Amino acid sequence: NTVTFFVMLASMCIVFSTNIQDTERQLRLKNQTLYKEAGTDPLTGLPNRRSMIEQIEKFYRANSDHTFSVAIADIDFFKKVNDTYGHNCGDYTLVKLTELFVEHAMGRYSVCRWGGEEFCFFLPGLNLDEAGIVMNDLCIAVEKMSLTYEEHTFSITITAGVEEFDFLSPLEELLEKADEKLYMGKNAGRNRVVV
Ligand code: GH3
Ligand code: MG
Ligand code: MG
Repeated sequence: NTVTFFVMLASMCIVFSTNIQDTERQLRLKNQTLYKEAGTDPLTGLPNRRSMIEQIEKFYRANSDHTFSVAIADIDFFKKVNDTYGHNCGDYTLVKLTELFVEHAMGRYSVCRWGGEEFCFFLPGLNLDEAGIVMNDLCIAVEKMSLTYEEHTFSITITAGVEEFDFLSPLEELLEKADEKLYMGKNAGRNRVVV
């Protein structure tokens, strides 16, 4: 009887611990999914601002002797797309533009949706001139892209500001400088990259 009792007790312990391990595994997977979702923009599927900042900071921690550049790009007169063709067409434009950005990256940058119709680019290992060339190519590719939504065919342009890391300034300041250049580009007539 005693032996039977202990065998049963042992079996119950095994079943319980297997259940706990299963639950733990499921919780871990759920956490990973939630973490990923919290860092992703639902419309474009791109990383969001928080996720991008994490990525840049991680790069900097691991490669503190490597330079990098950041760029902020904003769609020109995007309000007009919404006003003329509707908000859904605006959303469609954001998705198509994202596809072009991803296609054009070829490992040279990662891109996030910074907010609204603004995107932030992280160009690891590229100095200002190199990043400027990549962003200029991209700007030209955007201008050439033909968009068709329902019966409307149209095109868009972007303006971008680029800044290289100076091994001194905090990331926030670097991004502010890129943003200032973006607004210089807007004032200078849009559809251009300011380095
Ligand atoms: P500028 O060249 O000066 O940047 O002009 P703009 O019209 O692009 O700038 P403005 O800030 O006046 O308008 C931005 C518009 O972007 C307004 C807002 O409704 C639109 N927008 C932001 N996020 C979304 C979005 O997720 N979907 C759609 N369809 N529109 C969006
Ligand atoms: Mg804007
Ligand atoms: Mg805009």
